[in-house]
Amino acid sequence: MKDQYGRSIGYMRVSVTDRCNLRCIYCMPAEGVPCVQHGDILTFDEITRLCRIGTEIGISRIKLTGGEPLVRRGLPELLRMIKELPGIEQVTLTTNGILLKEKINELVSNGLDAVNISIDTLEAGEYRRITRGGRLEEALAGMEAALRFPDLRVKLNCVPMQGMPEEGYVRLAELARDRDMDVRFIEMMPIGMGREYGYVSGEQIYRILEDVFGRAEECAGSFGNGPAVYVRFPGFRGKTGFIDAVSHQFCDRCNRVRLTSEGCLKPCLQYGDGTDLRLLLRSGADDGKIREAMYRAVYKKPACHHFGGKTSGASGDGAAAVSEGEEIQQKDETRDMSQIGG
Ligand code: SAM
Ligand code: SF4
Repeated sequence: MKDQYGRSIGYMRVSVTDRCNLRCIYCMPAEGVPCVQHGDILTFDEITRLCRIGTEIGISRIKLTGGEPLVRRGLPELLRMIKELPGIEQVTLTTNGILLKEKINELVSNGLDAVNISIDTLEAGEYRRITRGGRLEEALAGMEAALRFPDLRVKLNCVPMQGMPEEGYVRLAELARDRDMDVRFIEMMPIGMGREYGYVSGEQIYRILEDVFGRAEECAGSFGNGPAVYVRFPGFRGKTGFIDAVSHQFCDRCNRVRLTSEGCLKPCLQYGDGTDLRLLLRSGADDGKIREAMYRAVYKKPACHHFGGKTSGASGDGAAAVSEGEEIQQKDETRDMSQIGG
């Protein structure tokens, strides 16, 4: 469907949990976030129902995310339930990779189309520091396991932080030289803990890589569901991508909405507001009523975020769930990325 600004919205990021087996310093406080009670999290049947109703308003691509989606028991089964829905073309996953090696066979046989793996550095000590205790070799084993499936698209995501050594970006980018995978650099967004770390722009990263690998060729066309710009360095098998969410606003091309693990449909990452679909699901609403609420939420998607501080937002006094698709008031998001579903 098209929203009020004429953008086609066909992609829904679905957070299946706000829990995580890592504590990345820019995403979560050291002690973790107060966990949502089990009963407040949408069940697999509820998530699948919302995806099915979503197809009726044009949602055809689903990304499973979190928190860490693979810590939710039975995740491959949820993937299968969604993938079997008529109208769903693609189900993908974003993960830190720690549990990927043990789950990849089942994920692929249940229909996984692509996986994004988040690894910010290839230096084990630095990885442990950033993730507060994570073991790099486990994430890399997950990545290599995913690469053994030739039909599975694999991307590695890095969120550069100010102060990280430049050499680290070069080593990460180099993974795409001999492997059939893309390596992407995502600007740190001022969301949750991310506000405490400055972003490094895609342009800065490109210059660092160009000095080492030479001038890259721009890749035409769209790859995946997002706003990444891709280039290919000479002799590389895979592409290098840049998601410049802060330095280059791409809201005019935004194609997505987000469903939190508690069933709040969020039309824009930055704003705290959303539509409480769990309330509808659990109060016995029929498909038509839920479809109408989803339609209204998507239709009213805000024109743009203001990460760069270009437009003035509302006061930032917290996340508010708006019931049943009421007028969306644009309050800044105060939750962490792990709670929203990054
Ligand atoms: N745990 C999974 C993972 O790490 O891929 C899925 C959830 S995580 C919130 C999704 C992505 O959001 C990760 O690539 C993470 O690096 C990124 N992320 C977290 N906080 C961010 C921020 N403030 N700005 C940009 N990306 C962020
Ligand atoms: Fe967990 Fe992903 Fe957030 Fe890291 S970025 S703390 S792995 S949810």
